[in-house]
Amino acid sequence: MFEMPVIDRAKCDGCGLCVSVCHCNILVLVDNVVTIIREERCVSCNRWCTQCEDVCPTGAIRWPLEIVIE
Ligand code: SF4
Ligand code: SF4
Repeated sequence: MFEMPVIDRAKCDGCGLCVSVCHCNILVLVDNVVTIIREERCVSCNRWCTQCEDVCPTGAIRWPLEIVIE
């Protein structure tokens, strides 16, 4: 099982910002809602870059993991 962003479809307004920042081409818009394709590449290409979460204005896409540095 691969770790990948979690999408709240109800919050997604289809702005496409996350699609444009994901240079691994993992995200696409389907019926104006972001959808994950090639989920296995999310970890391998950018190692949890979280740019999709950072750029999303509505909080519709986020990482389920929180990295804590002690
Ligand atoms: S975490 Fe990075 S590589 Fe993964 S979907 Fe988001 S922008 Fe793309
Ligand atoms: S940035 Fe957020 S609101 Fe915009 S398409 Fe991506 S998940 Fe949806």
